[in-house]
This record gives sequence, structure tokens and C-alpha cells, in this order.
Amino acid sequence: MTAKPLLIVVSGPSGSGKGTLCTLLRQRLPDLAYSISVTTRPPRPGERNGVDYFFVSTDEFLKKIKAGEFLEWAKVYDNYYGTPISYVTNSLQSGKDVLLELDIQGAKQVKKLFPDAVLIFIRPPSLEELGARITKRGTDSLEAIRKRLSSANEELQAAADYDYVVVNDQQERALEEIMEIVRKEKESLG
Ligand code: 5GP
Repeated sequence: MTAKPLLIVVSGPSGSGKGTLCTLLRQRLPDLAYSISVTTRPPRPGERNGVDYFFVSTDEFLKKIKAGEFLEWAKVYDNYYGTPISYVTNSLQSGKDVLLELDIQGAKQVKKLFPDAVLIFIRPPSLEELGARITKRGTDSLEAIRKRLSSANEELQAAADYDYVVVNDQQERALEEIMEIVRKEKESLG
């Protein structure tokens, strides 16, 4: 019998390095289905529609909420973000493990719907390090940086509700820790 597919949710404050860790995880596990979210946030330089996100207007987003197209959605720093329901359910039904990168509100909603979902919280080594990383990225306005930093403290408290907390002190080490979590969780589901 094949093992039950795993639903993995990764969260962490902006600048925790969760995006890079998810990219590396997907390279290690090419069969992992990655759900591309829908957002009303404008694209950052280099981001592509349908690759990083599906970029839509607020009107379009609200229509999608009404039409029941989201597994979960949340407003994060003035913008809407949502997970298309069909991609996730189709992937799980076809036996594929699924990776979602969500804020803490989204992770909570998913855990309610899928109690077996594995919630992983990525922590930066310190708040100082976080500030330095967000500023260095250079893609956000000062106002956006300020908002992201003030939410970070709150988000770090939320780590207690996650199944695992991984400190992103060194990328390779953190990636190995996530790989080990996935292996262990697959085993316990199988
Ligand atoms: P960013 O604007 O930096 O790409 O993402 C901002 C926050 O929104 C991050 O914490 C990211 O994980 C979260 N996020 C991205 N997509 C979704 C989604 O579909 N649903 C929820 N709830 N959060 C999301």
C-alpha cells in the first residue's frame, strides 16, 4: 500500500528565509506538489505571474472568495493571500505530498481542515538578524519593512502552535532538519 500523502505547511516571519528553504526543499523532493497562492500584492521585481503567485486585483480576489475557490485565505500586511482549493485536493487525491507556504492565520485554518497536516515554523536566529535580512533584500519600502518587523514579534509567539520549529541559523543544516521531519512524518503516516 502506498503511504498517505503528506500536507506540509511552512510558515515564518518575513526574512526568516522560509522562501529559500521551500525552494531548496522542492529541489530535493521534485515530486512534492507546491501550491502557488493567489495574491493582491503587486509583484516584486523578478516575480512572475503563475510561478511565484497568481497576481490578481482585489475585486478578482473577493470574487474568488465568494465562489469558494480557496482552501484558506487571509489578509496579511494590507494584502490578500489565498490557497486555491482545487490544486491541493487534486494533488492529495492523486497521492502527492503537498507543500504550502502560509502565514500563521492560514496555517491555523489548514490544521483545522486537515488535522494530519504537518506545521513547520521557520525561525530566524534573532530579531536583529531578521531586520538585517529584510532590509538587505531591498525589495520592500521602509513602511513595509516596519510593518513586517512589528508583525514578526507576534508571529514568533505563534511558533508554539506548530508541530515543529526549525531555527534557520544555517541554511544547509535547517534544510536537513526539514528533510528529516518529512521522512519521519511519512513513516508515521505510512
Ligand atoms: P510575501 O508578500 O512576502 O510573499 O508573503 C507575505 C506572507 O503571506 C508570508 O508569510 C507568506 O507565507 C504568506 N502567504 C503567501 N501565500 C499565502 C496564502 O495563500 N495564504 C496565506 N494565509 N498566507 C500566504
